[in-house]
Amino acid sequence: MVDDVINEVNAKIRSYTNEHVTEWKNSGRPVIGYFCHYMPAELILAAGALPLRLRGAGSEDSSAGDAFMSGRVCTYVRHVMSLAVEGDYDFLDGEICLNTCDHVRRAADLFVKKTNIPFHGFISLPRNPRESLYGNLLKELRNLRVALQDHFGVEITDDRLREAIIALNRNRRLLTEINNMRKEDKPKLSGAESLSVHIASQVLPPDVFAGIAERLIKELKDRPGLDSPRGRLVMLGAELDEPDYVAVIESQGALVVADLLCFGQRSVLDPIDENTDDPLDAIGRAYFFRPSCARMIGDFPARWDNLNRIVSDARADGVIFTRLLFCDPWGAEQHNLLHRAKKGNTFPVLTLTKEYGIVPTGQLRTRVQAFLEKIEIARAKRDAVGGAV
Ligand code: SF4
Repeated sequence: MVDDVINEVNAKIRSYTNEHVTEWKNSGRPVIGYFCHYMPAELILAAGALPLRLRGAGSEDSSAGDAFMSGRVCTYVRHVMSLAVEGDYDFLDGEICLNTCDHVRRAADLFVKKTNIPFHGFISLPRNPRESLYGNLLKELRNLRVALQDHFGVEITDDRLREAIIALNRNRRLLTEINNMRKEDKPKLSGAESLSVHIASQVLPPDVFAGIAERLIKELKDRPGLDSPRGRLVMLGAELDEPDYVAVIESQGALVVADLLCFGQRSVLDPIDENTDDPLDAIGRAYFFRPSCARMIGDFPARWDNLNRIVSDARADGVIFTRLLFCDPWGAEQHNLLHRAKKGNTFPVLTLTKEYGIVPTGQLRTRVQAFLEKIEIARAKRDAVGGAV
């Protein structure tokens, strides 16, 4: 049954760690936490370590992190760092931060000063995904490769990188198959279920995840599709790793049939060349030139085109944009998105601002209901004039 697999997945993602991380550690292998999906997980895997996407799941309050960070740091970072400062992440053998935003940059300082994690890596990611800046990222990846080798005493050979590419490509293909089933006229799984699965892909050993995904796909093929009487939605935004939040949205009669969320579909790259002569370069290019996120400055036109492609491909009726309070990159994105959607009279957009770890059920339901009514009215008007908007 699909529900059994999803329940199993939800049990594994309930907290910032899980039993497979513990098993991995108990077998004498290191675990390395990382913040952002611009961090190539292949590099960590090729060092013999488990890449673990950092989450604040299970953190009940962020006061330990708040003590060292401004109150205007987003609550995702504050919850993760609260766990870290309290020692909950001390099981990590290393952590790698990026200059994703100033909030994560500050987290990098705290990891060094206030935790007992022995290895600290950092990647300075250029602010725009253009060819002339790519060399800087490749240099950073080469430096990180050397640092990982020196610290963990392993040689990260090209063959090891190719093996890591193969392992993660397998999961990319499985996730793409699952995402394609969301786009059907009667989607095979909900947006909340899909988010759970994508989170699992970033916190489980790759082979464990592949086993679960293969079972899920088999079960999904026999599942009758789901109804979405009030509309098909695309969700867009940064750090949202709470499937319950998506479930509240869907409880109003809509389905999230595609998303561009950091913990969701955005995390899935196209497969990387497995036979390349220079695997580090292939990895670097795949991550750097992926459809960008809001922290990439000057790339909004490409993101807008990508969103339009996704909305059209999923035959979506509207877009829900979520942003964490105090998140600057996604604040600018919200402004650009609303401006372009209004100017082009494209699709209705609902913008939601939230705090990490909180699902404001009543308020959220009301806002989604109003949005779905707007979609229904637009649809009725369209039908009345024979399909012309
Ligand atoms: S949600 Fe925004 S502020 Fe928080 S880590 Fe992500 S990009 Fe940075």
